Amino acid sequence: MPEFDFDLFVIGAGSAGVRLARMSAAKGVRVGVAEDRYLGGTCVNVGCVPKKLFVYASEVPEQLDCARGFGWDSEPLRFDWTTLRDNKNSEILRLNGIYRKLLENSGASLFEGRARFQDTHHVEVNGKRISAEHIVIATGGWPFVPDFPGNNYAITSNELFYLESLPRQAVVLGGGYIAVEMAGILNGLGVETTLIYRGDLFLRGFDQEIREFVREELEKKGIRLLFSDNIAEIRQVSGSAQILDAKQQSYQVILESGKALNAGLVLAATGRKAHLDDLGLENLALERNRDGSVSVDDCYRTSVANIFALGDVTGRIQLTPVALAEGMFLSEYLYGAGEATPQVDYENIATAVFCQPNIGTVGLSEEQARERGMEVDVFVSEFRPLKHTLSGSDERCLMKLIVDRGSDRVVGAHMVGHEAGEIIQGLAIALKCGASKAQFDATIGIHPTSAEEFVTMRSARKD
Ligand code: NDP
Repeated sequence: MPEFDFDLFVIGAGSAGVRLARMSAAKGVRVGVAEDRYLGGTCVNVGCVPKKLFVYASEVPEQLDCARGFGWDSEPLRFDWTTLRDNKNSEILRLNGIYRKLLENSGASLFEGRARFQDTHHVEVNGKRISAEHIVIATGGWPFVPDFPGNNYAITSNELFYLESLPRQAVVLGGGYIAVEMAGILNGLGVETTLIYRGDLFLRGFDQEIREFVREELEKKGIRLLFSDNIAEIRQVSGSAQILDAKQQSYQVILESGKALNAGLVLAATGRKAHLDDLGLENLALERNRDGSVSVDDCYRTSVANIFALGDVTGRIQLTPVALAEGMFLSEYLYGAGEATPQVDYENIATAVFCQPNIGTVGLSEEQARERGMEVDVFVSEFRPLKHTLSGSDERCLMKLIVDRGSDRVVGAHMVGHEAGEIIQGLAIALKCGASKAQFDATIGIHPTSAEEFVTMRSARKD
């Protein structure tokens, strides 16, 4: 008789948990998975996937405008939010089903309920006591709303995906990925949108020139940007207590500067915290980081030897592909090559912000390269994409390469423009391989594309 019911028990069926469970079950490991909300986690349900679908929807009006320059015209189209939302919901349901099949077909046992630790080797799910040799916490993150009077009127990205109706005016608080992306979506769908950020320029951590360029582009699209300000209070001004029915301008948003804005919806996109409530952690001596996330070592082991944690709950880089990589590492570490398993490499992780136009970025910003003591050559190309010579759109594109002068290595590639994420994904391989600027220059471009600019930038910026 085995000592434990399972070799591995995973709490949370999101990106990290499902990948770990499937890969481990495929190796013959006896795996249990507990999930009490939705299969696929944040990414599939209230993150990357529905967000990208909404981004596509929000781009349509501008594309229709552009069509006129190419000779196309049509009756004005009408937008119906409920169709978009419901179609999105159907697609998410389909994906939930795929996740279920993937887990079942892998041989893992799914428990649909909340798992609570009883001790280091036991959890309780739906009244059943389950033992496991290794237990993995992969419960993700949860949106955080700052404390201010009326913050209960603010919704988070979780609720935005399921609104009953779209408001006429919206206020978005925050200056990170979610704030910038959601402001673009709302604006594109016809909502008068104001983004409020406490710092002097949003997207902290991104290349400064990219941030400034994005500010200009978003303002051109009609998003109102208010920096160096914050929400002091939200007041309900109409009788509607029903936040999800945001047709009316139901709120007055008072800013620290004293400005007051009306809005039917206030979105707090102010970061996410480790989602660890009600897991029975009081029964474990689990060390937490200062931000509340689970503290882990390089192999994702927590302070309790047989318990591991992966993905957003560890408070590291909150990106789906990172969570997947961590899940794959842990499966191999525990049930494959062991100590010989190569660590997840957190350098040069490419990422995109799906604002309009998109930001794609990999490697160091100009500022980070200089902070590391590098002497850098900076190559910048800013231009009107060919399409917009006829479309009438004033959208522009910015591309930037940061080159370490000593080694000629390209240490950063950044872009703001159509499909920047798609383009930077390819360049990420080059950076991972340590490509030099000379190798970029020796690469023959594809003409006419925007991407070819990355291999034709010959003159460094003169500082
Ligand atoms: P971020 O951490 O990226 O941004 C949070 C923003 O909220 C920052 O601008 C921060 O300001 C601001 N903020 C924090 N606390 C307060 C406060 N008390 N009052 C006012 N403003 C505050 O979090 P997000 O919620 O945007 O996204 C969470 C994570 O999800 C991201 O870090 C990213 O890793 C991931 N994500 C990735 C996406 C992608 O890959 N495209 C898309 C969406 C999310 P400050 O800068 O001053 O700290």
